[in-house]
Amino acid sequence: MGLIVQKFGGTSVGSVERILNVAECVKEETDRGNQVVVVVSAMGKTTDQLVNMAKEISSQPSKREMDMLLSTGEQVTISLLSMALKEKDLEAVSYTGWQAGIITEPIHGNARITKIKTEAIEGQLQAGKVVVVAGFQGITETGEITTLGRGGSDTTAVALAASLNADRCDIYTDVTGVFTTDPRYIKSARKLLSVSYDEMLELANLGAGVLHPRAVEFAKNYQVRLEVRSSMEKVEGTIIEGEATMEQNLVVRGVAFEDKITRVTVLGLTNSITSLSTIFSTLAKNQINVDIIIQSTTETGAANLSFSIHTDDWLETLNVLEDNKSILDYEQLDAENKLAKVSIVGSGMISNPGVAAKMFEVLAENNIAIKMVSTSEIKVSAVVEEKYMLKAVEALHEAFGLGD
Ligand code: ASP
Ligand code: MG
Repeated sequence: MGLIVQKFGGTSVGSVERILNVAECVKEETDRGNQVVVVVSAMGKTTDQLVNMAKEISSQPSKREMDMLLSTGEQVTISLLSMALKEKDLEAVSYTGWQAGIITEPIHGNARITKIKTEAIEGQLQAGKVVVVAGFQGITETGEITTLGRGGSDTTAVALAASLNADRCDIYTDVTGVFTTDPRYIKSARKLLSVSYDEMLELANLGAGVLHPRAVEFAKNYQVRLEVRSSMEKVEGTIIEGEATMEQNLVVRGVAFEDKITRVTVLGLTNSITSLSTIFSTLAKNQINVDIIIQSTTETGAANLSFSIHTDDWLETLNVLEDNKSILDYEQLDAENKLAKVSIVGSGMISNPGVAAKMFEVLAENNIAIKMVSTSEIKVSAVVEEKYMLKAVEALHEAFGLGD
């Protein structure tokens, strides 16, 4: 007998009919003789609707009350699913995050799980029950309800799988797995049979929405075998594990992309030893996330600095930089909007030189200018004009042999 954690996302539990379908998926697993813990999201767009209601009341609602509000979404699903399971003659019990023993740090809106007290769940499993747990929520040591950040139910599932020592964690969603690129935009995108933790972490951080990045981090740290699969179609999914065991020959395994990027340039920055730290700590204090950073020195010894941000943060960034002009000590600001980031990801890059060169060559052949570049051991990202984003993705997808 094995222990399986199954997680079902918002679309998969989006209606009563879908919840009945989920109950059937759970039953198939128990029929195979496995113990099952199920983690669910809120139904459909519930979380968005709750957020919108709060916004109608307050432009800056209390973070504590937001957690109180948003945690109700998942609570609806656990009770309905438990009822559906009972109709199928399965013993089931629903647990909120705190009943499941999910303890988090005392931060509202984006808390990390610090420990899981698994006794209650284990007791119910031993009594032969299916335990249905509300994703995305936990409780602090002092008894305050917290949430784990949007998309956080994935993290609940993986964390439970790790602490219960489960044999598998299956993430059921509305797509059939992890693709070489987004199939909604690129017709030749192909489903991958396996991806390594590191590759998945890069892809998730680069905007592939299929998994919460922190869930992947957790899976990597605790070696949880993850599988992403469809709750609607019975087809093979994508396995995420230490090494991608299939398709070894692929140097690049995926192409990710993200639009709405702005490049900010600060010209004539006095080149003192603290100028970079002053600028970036000022931005950080104002919650502005900076991605790629490029610095160069001019002939006169001053520095020019470029960095990329999400376009939504542009006005805020401009205000912060202008308000602090005298402290930061620069001459001029410049910005370019309507940019996008296109990235290639693959563990094979470590041992294959020339991957970045090939990427730049492909972009050049397509007359796409590169505005900024950043790399890690297993990814290369290039910032290009937004209007060329999909053209770049398509060309790279093809050039690295990812299409079908
Ligand atoms: N319901 C939450 C959200 O929509 C958490 C999740 O679905 O993972 O972000
Ligand atoms: Mg999700």
